[in-house]
Amino acid sequence: MIEENSGLHAEAAGTEWSYAPAPESLKVEIAEKYGLFINGRFVAPKSHKYFPTINPASEETLSQIAEAGGRDVEAAVAAAKAAQPAWARLKPTERAKFLFRIARRIQERTNELAVLETMDNGKPIAESRNVDLPLVAQHFFYHAGWCDKLKYAFPGRDPKPLGVCGQIIPWNFPLLMMAWKLAPALACGNTCVIKPAETTSLTALRLAEIFREIDLPPGVVNIVTGAGATGQMIVRHKAVNKIAFTGSTEVGKQIAAACADTDKRLTLELGGKSPHIIFENAALDQAIEGAITGIYFNQGHVCCAGSRLLVQESILDEVVSRLRERIKSLRMGDPLDKNTDVGAINSAEQLATVRYYIESGLEEGASIINSSDEPLPERGYWCRPCFFTDVQPSQLIAREEIFGPVLAVMSFRTPEEAISKANNTPYGLAAGIWTDKGSKMFEMAKRLKAGVVWCNGYNLFDPASPFGGYKESGFGREGGLQGLSAYVRM
Ligand code: NAD
Repeated sequence: MIEENSGLHAEAAGTEWSYAPAPESLKVEIAEKYGLFINGRFVAPKSHKYFPTINPASEETLSQIAEAGGRDVEAAVAAAKAAQPAWARLKPTERAKFLFRIARRIQERTNELAVLETMDNGKPIAESRNVDLPLVAQHFFYHAGWCDKLKYAFPGRDPKPLGVCGQIIPWNFPLLMMAWKLAPALACGNTCVIKPAETTSLTALRLAEIFREIDLPPGVVNIVTGAGATGQMIVRHKAVNKIAFTGSTEVGKQIAAACADTDKRLTLELGGKSPHIIFENAALDQAIEGAITGIYFNQGHVCCAGSRLLVQESILDEVVSRLRERIKSLRMGDPLDKNTDVGAINSAEQLATVRYYIESGLEEGASIINSSDEPLPERGYWCRPCFFTDVQPSQLIAREEIFGPVLAVMSFRTPEEAISKANNTPYGLAAGIWTDKGSKMFEMAKRLKAGVVWCNGYNLFDPASPFGGYKESGFGREGGLQGLSAYVRM
């Protein structure tokens, strides 16, 4: 029985109902334009250039962001270099306090940061508030704990900071990627020049406000906004001792080439085409939920998205039928509505890329199943979650990273065939296995060429657990001891 004002709307007599709209009520302040954060202050770019940042759900311009040029990057690196010796000399327990305060302030300002992240990125507020922000705070808490224990982390060694770290991040998890980069670097006594992605700079700049609030010494973190050209200047700067990059494999290769004849340390977290394998003895309800989360979480803008679903042949029809039913219940729409499951694609460019792959799937003879046939909103960048059946491993949708809510479903008969299909990719970031047989899990996990293998779960993250890829998904790990080791020399 649905009562009036219970939050559920009876759309028709009987069983048809829908959640009432539940828009986020918090209004965040956004300045008309933002400068660069260098040496503890917001400064106008010496380049005098700005570019707009857009709400992808409405195409409304949210603010103007500074585009850092050569002299700006120069100033940011100089500030980081000047601040590094004192930061490294600081008593480790004092350094830890700064990281701890950052984490606490992030918790206190979670709502505001989550709303801003959703407005700039297009991801549902339920995800930014309940998944991204808690992980961001955890990352700083976790690394605060390491500051005075580095000698225990690397017994028998004498870990020293690397110096100035140049860090370049993508738009899919703007704040989380920032935390993954900054927290370990700072814990080890390095200073940073970080560049957010050009479509999602707002929360990075809000974090700068937090750095000021907690009196982080000037120059310890410098935030330069801009696009690829700004990133290139950081990569090429001679005073930068380490580059940490998360982004596409294509750009990762260019950065690897640019660093090849230098003594810069380098870690690369790149793209993926991760297999998600369901065996016939899996708990199907959970496996379907795992498959749905694996690909439609954050509109599929997840480097480790389970974008290839490999299903044992005997249960293929059952899985496809359940997926079809479940995908229809996904709610796509206003990212600031608390009931929204799937928000907006981050940019017009990314939407065009996703559409290109959907067209290619249709042209190559695969069959598409969409979440709904209802018209899409007139403004904003929208793509219905969908999955393809009748997919051949040779087709583009089965081979290339789409980075959108598009799943390719294929079948296998034996575990051997599952391994061979799963590993048949230039990537190696993540994989998922669903089976109720423990020995099968261990055997598969051992033979899958993926940096992370989740068993009976997917997209599970913890700051203590290292994350990273094989092959064209990059090298180096972020999180845990392994992530820490990328920021020290010993
Ligand atoms: P991208 O490579 O286009 O951009 C990433 C960042 O690099 C942005 O800040 C961009 O401005 C900058 N950049 C672009 N060209 C550059 C250059 N020549 N030199 C230096 N910097 C440059 O990637 P994207 O579209 O922003 O992000 C999506 C990609 O990121 C996907 O491939 C995804 O799989 C990957 N990703 C990987 C991980 C991981 O942990 N492995 C996590 C998130 C995203």
